[in-house]
Amino acid sequence: MSRPSDPLQTEAQFLKGVGPRRAEQLHRLGIKTAEDMLHYLPRRYDDRRNLPPLIKARPGQQITARGYVVDVQTIRTRRRGQVILKAALQDETATIHLTWFNQPWVGRQLAEVSGEIVAFGTVKEVKGKLEMASPEWEPIEDDEDSEDFARLTPVYPLKDKVFQQTVRQAAQSAVEHFSSLLPDPLPPEIRKAHGLMTRGRAMAQMHFPESEAELERARTRIAFEEFFYLQLALLMKRREAQQETGIAFDLDAPPVAGSRLFAEDEQSLEEQARKMLPFEMTGAQQRVVDEIWTDMRKPAPMNRLVQGDVGSGKTAVAACAMLGAVRCGYQAAMMAPTEILAEQHYINLRKLLEPAGIHVRLLVGKQGARERKKHAADISTGIANVVVGTHALIQDAVVFRRLGLAVIDEQHRFGVLQRAALRQKSETHPDVLVMTATPIPRTLTMTLYGDLDVSVIDELPPGRKAIKTHWRRPDQRPKVYQQVDTLLDQGRQAYFVCPLIKESDKMQVQAADDLHYRLSTSEFKHRTVGLLHGQMKAAVKEEVMDRFRAGEIDLLVSTTVIEVGVDVPNATVMVIEDANRFGLAQLHQLRGRVGRGEHQSFCILIANAEGDGERRMKVMVETSDGFRIAEEDLDLRGAGDLAGTQQTGHLDFLVADLVRDQKLLGLARNAASKLLDDDPELTSPTHAALLKQVQSQRDIQALVAVS
Ligand code: ADP
Ligand code: MG
Repeated sequence: MSRPSDPLQTEAQFLKGVGPRRAEQLHRLGIKTAEDMLHYLPRRYDDRRNLPPLIKARPGQQITARGYVVDVQTIRTRRRGQVILKAALQDETATIHLTWFNQPWVGRQLAEVSGEIVAFGTVKEVKGKLEMASPEWEPIEDDEDSEDFARLTPVYPLKDKVFQQTVRQAAQSAVEHFSSLLPDPLPPEIRKAHGLMTRGRAMAQMHFPESEAELERARTRIAFEEFFYLQLALLMKRREAQQETGIAFDLDAPPVAGSRLFAEDEQSLEEQARKMLPFEMTGAQQRVVDEIWTDMRKPAPMNRLVQGDVGSGKTAVAACAMLGAVRCGYQAAMMAPTEILAEQHYINLRKLLEPAGIHVRLLVGKQGARERKKHAADISTGIANVVVGTHALIQDAVVFRRLGLAVIDEQHRFGVLQRAALRQKSETHPDVLVMTATPIPRTLTMTLYGDLDVSVIDELPPGRKAIKTHWRRPDQRPKVYQQVDTLLDQGRQAYFVCPLIKESDKMQVQAADDLHYRLSTSEFKHRTVGLLHGQMKAAVKEEVMDRFRAGEIDLLVSTTVIEVGVDVPNATVMVIEDANRFGLAQLHQLRGRVGRGEHQSFCILIANAEGDGERRMKVMVETSDGFRIAEEDLDLRGAGDLAGTQQTGHLDFLVADLVRDQKLLGLARNAASKLLDDDPELTSPTHAALLKQVQSQRDIQALVAVS
C-alpha cells in the first residue's frame, strides 16, 4: 500500500495499534489521518497521578490503585439477568474491591493477567469496605507501564460505539510518530518573543501533558495562534480598506453651493453643529465627533464603530457626522434594525437637521408603494439629503445620487454588519459609521469588530439622575404595586415587562395577555393599562405607542419589543417580572427605557433567583455601567452565548477563550500588527504557511459579511 508523500496524511488505520476495524471508529469522529488525530483534542484529563498505598485510600478520592487481583467472582442478579463482576485488588497494605456491571469480557481479560494491574476510579465505601465501580485498568509488566498509566490522561469527546481506549491509543501513536512533523506557521521570532512552544510540542502536550504547567503552556501556544491568525486577517482587511479610494470631505470649506444650510453660510462646521444642537455636547461626544470628522477628511473610507451606552447621546454624534457630509454636497443614510427604531431616528434627526435646511426622508415597509416611490425619487435626484430607514430597505430599494456617509445603527446585535451591500450603492466608497448601544467587552470588540476603528462615548449627559434598581422577591409584589401606583398618582407612567418565554412566541404573547388581564382587572383597574407585543399588527403597535407617548396610557404591559427604540421620558418606572429569565445584556437594555427624563426613575426586578441568577440580579442592582455589565455577562455566559455572536463563525475557537485569554488576545493583536508593518501582504516566502492560515480565516469570516 502506498503512503502519501506528506506523512501527516498517513491514514488513521496505519497508526500503530489501530488497524482497519478501529480506524472505522475513528472515522466516526472525523479522524481520517494522523494529522486529524493530532488536532482532535481531549475534552478534559483524568489525573491518575495519585497512587497511594491502598491503606491510605479514602472514600471520595480518585486514585490509581496498584496491586494483584486475588479473587474474581461473577454474580448474576436474579431479577434482570445482569452480570456483576467483582474482583479484589491487593497490595502489601490493604485490599480494595473492584466491580463492573455487565462487562463480562473484563472477567476474561482479568483471567489472563498474571502480574499486577493498575486501576483508576473513585473510591466509595460500601458496607464498610472500599470499592471502585467500573474502574479503567491495565495490566502492567514493568514500572514504565505503570508510569504511562498513572499520569494526566486525556479524555476525548466520543460518539456511540467509539471507545476511549481506541482514541487514546491512536493519539499516543500519532503523538509519538507524527507530532514533531507538524509544520509551525508561527514565525520563530514571534514564538521566541512570547516564549511559545513549537506547534508540534504543543499538540503533543495537549494530548499527553507532562504536567499541568506544560499543559497550560501548550494551551497558551495554541490559543495565541488562533488569535494571531484572526487578528492578521482582520488587520489585513483593515489595511486593504485603507487603500481604497473614499471621499476626502472638505469639512473646512464653506457649504457647497446649492446646499441650503444655515443662512449664515460663512459659519464653520463646528459653529453650525453647535447651533444645531439644543445642548452642549459632553466631552465624550465632542471627542468622538472630532475622531469622526478627522476620519472624514481623509481620502480613505472611514470604518468606525461608535460604542455608547443607552442614553449617551449617539444621535447627536450621528447628526454632526451627517451635517458634515451634507455640507460637502453628499447624502447621508441612517440604517436601523427595526421600523420602530427607524421612525424614532427619523423624528429625532428631523428635529435637529431640518432647521438647518437639510431634507430628511423616512423609508419603511409600511409606507404605501406610492409614498415610497416618491421618497425614492427624492433620493435619486438628491432632493433628500438624509435618508432614514431599515437596513433592508436602504440596501434593496434605493439609488442614491451621491451617498457619502452611511450610519448603521446596530443597537444590541453584534457582528451582523452588512456593509458590503452598501458599498455597491456608490462608486466611491462612502464613509461608514457603525453605532452600537451595547457596551462590548474589549476582547469582543477586537474580534467581532477587529477591522474597525473604535470610539467610545463613555460619559452620560449631565443632570441625568441615576436609575434606582431594586431586586424584590415575588411575595413582595403587593408592595411594589403600591409604590408604582404612588408614582402614577404623581403623573408618571410605568412599564411592566412580562416574563421571557423562550419556548414559543405564542406563549410569550399569552404571558403578556395574562399579565395585562391580571393588572387591569385588579391592582390597577383604576388606571389605563395598555398592551404591546410582537404579534400585534404594526398599526396597532404604533397606536399603542402613540397613546403611551401622549400619556393616555398609564401603565404599559409589554414583551421585550420595547427593548429597542422607545423613548418616553415621563415613564419612570419599569417592573420586570421573572427578571432572572433574562440575560444581563437584555436587562440592561430594558432598563435603558427609563431614566430618560428629569424625574427620578426606578427599575424593579422581580425574581426568585439563585446561583448565576442571583449574581445577575446583584450586578444589576449594583451598577448601571454598561461595560461592567457586559464584562460580567461575558464572564457568566462565555462568548459563544452572547447575543448575536452565534452567527459569527470565527468565535468558535478550538482552545482560545475570550474570557480567560484576554491578555493573550491583546498580545496577539500587537504581534500581528507588527508583523504586517514588515510584510503587509505576507508575501515573503517565510510567511507562506501563515498566509494560508490567514486565508482560511478570511473564508470563515466571509460568513459574517463584514466589509
Ligand atoms: P442614545 O441614542 O445614545 O441612546 P440619544 O441620542 O437618544 O441616546 O440621547 C438620549 C437623550 O439625551 C436625548 O433626549 C438627547 O436629546 C439627550 N442628550 C444627548 N446628548 C446630550 C447632551 N450633551 N446634553 C444634554 N442632553 C443630551
Ligand atoms: Mg473619508
